[in-house]
Amino acid sequence: MQAMILRHPGSPLEPVVLPERSPGPGEIRIRVTACGVCRTDLHVVDGELDTPALPIIPGHEIVGRVDALGDGVKHLRLGQRVGVPWLGYTCGTCLFCSMGRENLCERPLFTGYTRDGGFATAVIADARYAFDLGDDGEDASLAPLLCAGLIGWRSLVMAGNGKLLGLYGFGAAAHIIAQVAVAQGRRVFAFTKPGDEKGQAFARSLGAEWAGSSQEVPPAKLDAAILYAPDGRLVPLALAAVRKGGRVVCAGIHMSDIPAFRYDLLWGERELVSVANLTRQDGRDFLAAAAAIKIKTHITIYPLSSANQALADLRTGSFEGAAVLVP
Ligand SMILES: [Zn+2]
Ligand SMILES: [Zn+2]
Repeated sequence: MQAMILRHPGSPLEPVVLPERSPGPGEIRIRVTACGVCRTDLHVVDGELDTPALPIIPGHEIVGRVDALGDGVKHLRLGQRVGVPWLGYTCGTCLFCSMGRENLCERPLFTGYTRDGGFATAVIADARYAFDLGDDGEDASLAPLLCAGLIGWRSLVMAGNGKLLGLYGFGAAAHIIAQVAVAQGRRVFAFTKPGDEKGQAFARSLGAEWAGSSQEVPPAKLDAAILYAPDGRLVPLALAAVRKGGRVVCAGIHMSDIPAFRYDLLWGERELVSVANLTRQDGRDFLAAAAAIKIKTHITIYPLSSANQALADLRTGSFEGAAVLVP
């Protein structure tokens, strides 16, 4: 199989040809047809996250077809279209797993970080963590749902039911969650980097009633705000934009330092929370919602061998929506 592999954080991915292995008990082998490029992949490649299992094949927004079943896999069949997300395995026995919070598992494996991911022509996955994707929609269009959509969904649920919702950073996750929020009857306010008029127009085209710079004060106090951009300076700005009792959700796995801010930005029972990873229930809930709403992802397709270019373009923000690698 062909793959793009990370040997040393901070250096480019290398194209390699690897022997294909058979799935072990409880595993499946998937012929990858598309894999989204997530900001977390960029954090892994740039060495901003601790302890990736090097060398590692990144990629955790995997769409493909099952082409080999390990012993004991009964709920999936050969040829079935499945998706593999970031959550690749949980222990099932730690405090968090036993509380139903497997997203916080003490002994997890994460796809494309501590087990090999989908920047490849094939991937082995634990069958229990793969989602059935049905047969509606194009493979590449579905790929961003597996993380941008899923983590976006968890952060939206965490934001509560407030009507006025701010989205800071209008990339892959926000472009999906804006569609969900609008379908739920919410009013969306989109914040981009100052001067990013293309991004602001993109947000309006997806139903945002207001789009502006993250430095701006929105025209109404927000019930909640979700931060998708990995910039800690946005935290006090978002707290200032939400009403008393409002909530700010940090949705990224990595963020630059949050600057000191006045206590009165938090006072008034405002809440500041983070979202970590996903549960399989999040996946089932979100994929059902996505199908009902008929979410349309905006994607830029790159060949697998151009993974480094896709990462570079994500870093500079040179496309709207999401990048997807196709073998
Ligand atoms: Zn656990
Ligand atoms: Zn991701």
